[in-house]
Amino acid sequence: MKVLKFGGSSVGSASSILSVKRIVEAVNEPVIVVVSALGGITDKLINTSKMAAVGDASYENEFREIVYRHVEMIKEVIPAGEAQVALQRQVGELLNELKDIFQGIYLIKDLSPKTSDTIVSYGERLSSIIVAELTGAEWFDSRTFIKTEKKHSKHVIDTDLTNRLIRETFQNLPKRSLVPGFISTDKVSGDVTNLGRGGSDYTAAIIAAALNADSLEIWTDVDGFMTADPRVISTAYTISELSYVEATELCNFGAKVVYPPTIYPVYHKNIPIIIKNTFNPDGVGTVIKQE
Ligand code: ASP
Repeated sequence: MKVLKFGGSSVGSASSILSVKRIVEAVNEPVIVVVSALGGITDKLINTSKMAAVGDASYENEFREIVYRHVEMIKEVIPAGEAQVALQRQVGELLNELKDIFQGIYLIKDLSPKTSDTIVSYGERLSSIIVAELTGAEWFDSRTFIKTEKKHSKHVIDTDLTNRLIRETFQNLPKRSLVPGFISTDKVSGDVTNLGRGGSDYTAAIIAAALNADSLEIWTDVDGFMTADPRVISTAYTISELSYVEATELCNFGAKVVYPPTIYPVYHKNIPIIIKNTFNPDGVGTVIKQE
């Protein structure tokens, strides 16, 4: 089996999300797909909460844009019919909850870290049910098996507990499974937490390592690790192979291709990470492995 992760830009527009569908459907072994929120939505969720918290009524306009992005995406990618209506209803319910939370923040002008974590979780909860419907995958709630604990006021993963829960959840692996990235819950309180900005890569790596996947594919919007930032150096080119150590070093020096903690769990299991471009699926990408 393998684990595929698609970032925000891969699920950011109707055309890119349809490309995700083609990539997932072309896999002919059991696959677990991990997705980020629709591109830009996490930032918007944070922005909307901050506006509401300072009593700025135009938070409602920001929120309307969040609603619009999801509703339009469904209209564009899911054929009209019963399935589309059911999905709009499901997404509508989540958006209604979100609306109430924003209104609460606006009224009491308070935004706690706990509420903020709850709000950002909606990004992946919304995107993942859309992609699940689109790809005919079974949806699994990562909040039930990615568990964190509080250490020095940070949420860190409880690896042993999480690994056990992942193995239990995916004991009978369906052909296609769909998992929201980034989100988790506190192992004691059950409160919604997350793995930090960019954390969907990490969700995918944790799942790949727990299930001894054959590979972890990170689908993004660049061809792989490059020799330099292509926005600065126009002659930069893709590096086809890197060792885990080299990739970790590049990440620590600021390469934005993968979220740095991602490498560690798969490195321990010697599972190759393949970086691929959703917008250029035939490109070779970068393989990160032992040697
Ligand atoms: N949606 C989250 C973020 O924007 C997590 C992720 O995309 O990996 O940081």
